[in-house]
Amino acid sequence: LQSPVASGFLGGNTAVMSAFSLLHLVTKSQPVALRPCGLPSGSCRDKKTYKVVFSQEELRKRLTPLQYHVTQERGTESAFRGKFTDHKEEGTYTCVVCGTPLFKSTTKFDSGSGWPSFFDLITPEAVCLTDDFSYGMHRVETSCSQCGAHLGHLFDDGPRPTGKRYCINSASLAFLLEAQASGTSGTSASGEGAGKEEGGGL
Ligand SMILES: [Zn+2]
Repeated sequence: LQSPVASGFLGGNTAVMSAFSLLHLVTKSQPVALRPCGLPSGSCRDKKTYKVVFSQEELRKRLTPLQYHVTQERGTESAFRGKFTDHKEEGTYTCVVCGTPLFKSTTKFDSGSGWPSFFDLITPEAVCLTDDFSYGMHRVETSCSQCGAHLGHLFDDGPRPTGKRYCINSASLAFLLEAQASGTSGTSASGEGAGKEEGGGL
């Protein structure tokens, strides 16, 4: 007399269990499935996973106050005040913090925005793109993929062939003349840069 009840009970229990496991799986998988940022290139990286990490103390000593503010506190330099806005020499623009090559002078163009503007990256992996909702608007923030330094923003109103406009703070950049970039190990980048680290190199 008891067996049908027992088996019924067991059956029900199994069903409940599997539904529970399924639910558990679904719930558990949610944090792993990162919201795609819907951005063209680069990867969204967590601060802690940057390959190059500098102590804030060291950076405060090595960078100018403006370079520190822009790269570490996501600041923005005044328009038309940056040293690279009208800079036209041929070479490579690197991250002022870690020296990673970011842009080629051949992709620099005059956007009229007051900030150095580029229509392409030196490599697709050079910068990390993230959503920036500050100031009540949505922009795409660009930061150095190696050290996380804030660089500027990416807009979709650039010239051909990419249609992209990387609007970058001069304070986030260092510059290597063509000869220095392709030469051995250049000992210094453009003279005006306040003590910056070499090491991006090749
Ligand atoms: Zn960097």
